[in-house]
Formats: sequence, structure tokens, C-alpha cells
Amino acid sequence: MLKDLDAAADSIRTSQHCHAFTGAGISVESGIPPFRGPDGLWSRYDPHVLDLDYFHSNPLESWTVIKEIFYDFFQSAQPNRAHEVLALWEARGLCHSVITQNIDNLHQQAGSRTVHEFHGNSQRLVCTRCHASLPARDMDLSTLPPRCHECGGLLKPDFIFFGEMIPEAAHTASMAAAHEADVFLVIGSTGEVMPASWIPDQAKQSGATVIEVNPQPSRFTDTITDIYLPGKAAAVLDALESRLTAD
Ligand code: NAD
Repeated sequence: MLKDLDAAADSIRTSQHCHAFTGAGISVESGIPPFRGPDGLWSRYDPHVLDLDYFHSNPLESWTVIKEIFYDFFQSAQPNRAHEVLALWEARGLCHSVITQNIDNLHQQAGSRTVHEFHGNSQRLVCTRCHASLPARDMDLSTLPPRCHECGGLLKPDFIFFGEMIPEAAHTASMAAAHEADVFLVIGSTGEVMPASWIPDQAKQSGATVIEVNPQPSRFTDTITDIYLPGKAAAVLDALESRLTAD
């Protein structure tokens, strides 16, 4: 592990175009569980509330669960050391962008500026009728489902539900980053969620060295990963940052 940490730090230090790809695992130490697995959110909640057709037919039931998960519970989460280190690397020109599957806004809160939101962001609401976009913090969620101030249409969190397309701009930017990357960090992702999980494969095919951080092996580990750093994101990124600032 120590040799692998040294090798990973060297790769990042000498890279021209390092990009990062993050999944739910990077936010676990901020108190947000992943969806899958024994302690995952889907062991407590039924994912059908995030099915687009179900949401439109049952907005009150869907919104009651959505509010509990994404607005009562996510709201108090703060970025952890892993989010902070990625933001520091961007500020120093070491890591050019973060492609995230997460919708919790924690990369942005930590100070990352170039964040490709592959699945959208829970901190915005969008009107399903007039498409107005509103900051979630400005909305009163004590009466559900929330309605658009402009047209009275049903509001929906601006992250993708089952049955929705990936936002085109984020998809295009993520593919461009994967093509450009000579070093590609994959942090806290099972590699099971398509099409997001094809992004690291794309980076590998384009010649990037893939560095993976995850306490558990993933679909990537035995297929595309060049340097596997088994461990929690905050501790591993902190160890890499110590090496990068040691000289
Ligand atoms: P996922 O692919 O995001 O997998 C989670 C991964 O995190 C697992 O491989 C697990 O081993 C790893 N992990 C757990 N603790 C970790 C830690 N401390 N450090 C590093 N890695 C750790 O799968 P999912 O949870 O089923 O998510 C499905 C989709 O929903 C993804 O797009 C995900 O990003 C999104 N999601 C987002 C949030 C969020 O915004 N915080 C929360 C849950 C799910």
C-alpha cells in the first residue's frame, strides 16, 4: 500500500491532465450512505419514489420520501477531507475537473469549481411545467408537493430520476475529460451504475493511468485499475496530499 501511495502520488505530480471521477463512497464519511449495500439507502427506502412516471402519478408520496432523504438528511452533511483535497488540487492546477455521480453538492461546497454533475444536483429544483430553476434552500418544503411560484407547476429535484436522460452538457464534458486524461482517479464507485461507469473505461481506452480509491474492490479493480488504493477516501486522499506537499 505504501509503495502504491508513492506511485500514485508520483503519477498525479507528473500528470498533464489529471481528472477525478467520484461516486457515493466519497460522501460516506460526510454521513451520507450509498444507495446499495447492507447500510445503503435502498435498504430503508423503496427506490420506486425516484421513478419518473411514479413521481408524476404520486407526487405527494414521492416528495415525502425525497424530502426526508435529500433535504432533511443531506442538508446537514459537510464536505470531508477527500472533497477538500480534490478542491486543493484543482486550485494548484493538479486536478482539472471532478466528474461526479453525486447529487449532494459537497464538491462545490468544498471549493471545487469544475464539477461535471453527471446526475444533476439536489440543491436545485426545476419546474416540470415552465422549466424554471430555483435554489432548493429558497423553497418552503413544509407543504408538499412544492409548486412553482411562477406557474404553479410541480417542482422536481434537478437530479435525474430513473427513466431520465443524462444532462447533455455534463455528458459531453465528462467524455472530453476522459479522453484528455493521462491520470484518472476513480473514488468510491462500484462501477455498476451505467452509463456513468463507462467514463473511467473511456479514460483507460484513451491511455490514462487509472488510480482507484475504494475500501472494497469494484468492477474497475480487476479490469481497468492500474493502481488500487484500498481504503476510505478521506484517509487515502490525505495520505496522497501529504506526499504531494512533502517536497
Ligand atoms: P456507487 O457506485 O456510488 O458505490 C458506492 C461505493 O463506495 C462502493 O463501491 C463502496 O465500496 C464505496 N465506499 C464506501 N465507503 C467508502 C469510503 N469511505 N471511501 C471510498 N469509497 C467508499 O453506488 P450507489 O451507492 O449504489 O450509488 C448509485 C448512484 O447514486 C451513484 O450515481 C451515486 O453517486 C448516487 N448516490 C449519490 C449519493 C450522494 O450524492 N452522496 C448518495 C447515494 C447514491
